Amino acid sequence: MARAGLGSRRRCEELIEDGLVLVNGETADLGRRVDPEVDRIEVDGVAVSVRSGLVHYLLNKPAGVISTAADTHGRPTVVELVPAEPRVVPVGRLDADTEGLLLLTNDGDLTHRLTHPSFGVEKEYLAEVEGHPSRGALRRLREGVELDDGVTAPAQASLLAPNLLRLVIHEGRNRQVRRMCDAVGHPVVRLVRSRIGPLTDRTLKPGEWRVLDQAEVRALE
Ligand code: URA
Repeated sequence: MARAGLGSRRRCEELIEDGLVLVNGETADLGRRVDPEVDRIEVDGVAVSVRSGLVHYLLNKPAGVISTAADTHGRPTVVELVPAEPRVVPVGRLDADTEGLLLLTNDGDLTHRLTHPSFGVEKEYLAEVEGHPSRGALRRLREGVELDDGVTAPAQASLLAPNLLRLVIHEGRNRQVRRMCDAVGHPVVRLVRSRIGPLTDRTLKPGEWRVLDQAEVRALE
């Protein structure tokens, strides 16, 4: 389990002692050996893969944390919020001041697929903005707005409250949502990513992470 990145050896022992680990549906105990090829392991109701050595974490990134592996200014980074081993990298980036869901993994193929523009993975954002966007502003966001690096692709845009936008985009340009909102006259006050493709989680608090289960990993492939 520690090898699969579920935490330190001590943390994994605690999970077992607390009865949160099931092997083939039965509560695990510390002395038990498992065969990753055949045994089905669940931690707190979530199936985990100890076979591939690949780990996938879904993190709720807090504001003020940088989405790179190391920061030259010594600011906290997202990799410091998840287990140190095996080493993982963030899949794409969120701005330092953006919050919400970020995937971290050591699965290079998946990272490539999810970040390559040709795969167009949907990302949903909730943007609290200045002012109250009009129907015209929503239409422009949906149809595409002119940015300095070109017109944005069609997007979904709706209002959840007079100053709260829900935007779904499938491009990944730098500061795209902030620039789109600026372009229609409604600068972003707070930005939260609430979904990456099929992945969503309303239970993770800022700074918390969890391991993706096998069905979630498959859904990304
Ligand atoms: N769009 C932005 O403007 N910022 C992010 O962090 C992500 C999308």
